[in-house]
Amino acid sequence: MTDPFVPKGPPRAPGDRTCGHKAKGDADYCGQPGTWHVMWDAVDNSVSCDKHMTLIRQRWVYDDRHPIGADCTMPGALWLYHEHRCGFPDEQRQAAISLATTRS
Ligand SMILES: [Zn+2]
Ligand SMILES: [Zn+2]
Repeated sequence: MTDPFVPKGPPRAPGDRTCGHKAKGDADYCGQPGTWHVMWDAVDNSVSCDKHMTLIRQRWVYDDRHPIGADCTMPGALWLYHEHRCGFPDEQRQAAISLATTRS
């Protein structure tokens, strides 16, 4: 039986949104512009291109995924499962509150 859990590489730089797929024997990462953000196990996530997302779906289990958005891979961004994106929910809430309180 093949292992359903993806082999993980070392952490990549924050803000890097190129595909992090690297097969055994490959010298470097795929490097194509990422189209999917994949959460593996509520701790580790990675960026994938369309081609490797297809491979991931055939080959490995994952927790969640969403199309790459503006806040994906940014330092401090949170994975918002119910919104199918990454973001900064507290800052948005604070901005909404200060907007509401500065209106007279
Ligand atoms: Zn790729
Ligand atoms: Zn994301």
